[in-house]
Amino acid sequence: MIIILQPHIRKDNEEYHKIFTYLEKLPNIRLSVHEIQGTQQILTEIYLIGDTHSLSKDEIRAFPGVERVVRISQPYRILGRHAENDNRTSQFEYNGITFSQDNLHVFAGLCAVDNPKHVEMMMQALQAHGQVCTRMGAYKPRTNPYSFQGHGASCLHYVFELAGKYGIKVIAMEITHDKHIEEIQQALKQTGGPTGVMLQIGTRNTQNFELLKSAGRQTEFPVLLKRGFGITLEESLNAAEYLASEGNHKIIFGLRGMKTNMGDPHRNLVDFAQVPVVKRLTRMPVCIDPSHSVGSRDAGPEGILDLYHVTAQGIIAGANMVLVDFHPAPEQALVDGPQALLLEELPSFLQDVQIARQAYEQRRALINGGKG
Ligand code: PEP
Ligand code: MN
Repeated sequence: MIIILQPHIRKDNEEYHKIFTYLEKLPNIRLSVHEIQGTQQILTEIYLIGDTHSLSKDEIRAFPGVERVVRISQPYRILGRHAENDNRTSQFEYNGITFSQDNLHVFAGLCAVDNPKHVEMMMQALQAHGQVCTRMGAYKPRTNPYSFQGHGASCLHYVFELAGKYGIKVIAMEITHDKHIEEIQQALKQTGGPTGVMLQIGTRNTQNFELLKSAGRQTEFPVLLKRGFGITLEESLNAAEYLASEGNHKIIFGLRGMKTNMGDPHRNLVDFAQVPVVKRLTRMPVCIDPSHSVGSRDAGPEGILDLYHVTAQGIIAGANMVLVDFHPAPEQALVDGPQALLLEELPSFLQDVQIARQAYEQRRALINGGKG
């Protein structure tokens, strides 16, 4: 059960004290308090964990300062939607950018940082096309121990400085160890905070619970959690709940395809049909990663790359973020060159994204009788 307090009620209010004292005395119930930073105000939610069946919603609602009481109907206590009227926000802000289930951001960039020249070419192209987000891999989880593992902390300074130079506000950057969070924090501090970072937890680490706890305990950076490529959606959503249960509610859930030969010749089986499913079950904005789903630059007979097709499919179904590999010289890329889009493709890719987004908005208006 979740008790949502009225926006002006904080821990030092009389009303808070009264309801909290009452709740504390309930047998077999543990309390967990979460303060949610909204755009205008901080909302306080009290989670009741344990034997809540016999509790009366009406009795709790009658306390002064209580706005709403929601019974939890499924396992994602914090991130889930628990009732038809559970319209608690899906929105969060980071470094001046709003992320929600209602908007869309493109994170085009390098799968792996290779050198300052390519990073700069990428950032320059992004700025020229009005983009303020990117992806830049410094820590790469590789299947083969002898493959390039990413430049790690040694590239962070120039990546952050160049991001600042070209007005990039958020960089999605994978971490594979909790010490990477400190390295990122330190490099941002040393460079004077020219940009922001969204920590990315990759598909190989979706159920690395200690890493999830570390990323969840810090609330400075939002987290993009990729679904696990060989586990159920429910298991991956539970992994997201790990982050939230530690205190970080700024979470985006990423679909990136499932590992099975049934998706051949694509690298993974594209799973973007689950965009609306994740939006219905949880309040997380949903990201699609066409690059790691498709894994190639093959095109249909009309000349449109499969990468463009699946991106449009995800967006037309309501995706809120696109994480996509680009490279100025894919043949020189140290990781995933064959699936990278070219810088000269950036304008057509962004235009195609807009076409798909408009189609999604039109479909929404159609179904809602013109109300969008
Ligand atoms: C990536 O985005 O670079 C990546 C490694 O993705 P995934 O974890 O989905 O394989
Ligand atoms: Mn990659």
